Amino acid sequence: MKSTRLCLACGNPFVPLLHVPRQRYCSSKACQRARRRDWQTRRLRIDDDYRDNQARAQAKWRAGHSGYWREYRAAHPAYRERNRSMQKTRNARRNFEPIANMDVIRSHQPLGSGFYVLRDADDAGAANMDAWTVHIAVLSAPAAPPI
Ligand SMILES: [Zn+2]
Repeated sequence: MKSTRLCLACGNPFVPLLHVPRQRYCSSKACQRARRRDWQTRRLRIDDDYRDNQARAQAKWRAGHSGYWREYRAAHPAYRERNRSMQKTRNARRNFEPIANMDVIRSHQPLGSGFYVLRDADDAGAANMDAWTVHIAVLSAPAAPPI
């Protein structure tokens, strides 16, 4: 009698494949997608090289497809309207605070080297505008202000 176990994604019992003795997700398409998504989420969290490579690949793709989202929104009015209505809801919830991520500025921490999302300042009040992922290498930090 083969032993069954419970799928991590859907929770249904399944029999592991003979050649995958440590299988934790059932073979359904949705659960295999969940497995890959979970793998990538974990990779992005624990593997700096993987995260950098992903950010670089996405930036490269965006550079080669600069009009993709503009054209997608133009061709999918329902998608655009849904985004707009959801953004209005979020704006109302935020009590008119600007959406731009001000954490770096508010924290008074020196800007560190790394990947950042760069967005036109005129568009900073609205989400889903074209944005670039940029890598900033800090060559020198500003001098500490006198106390
Ligand atoms: Zn499953």
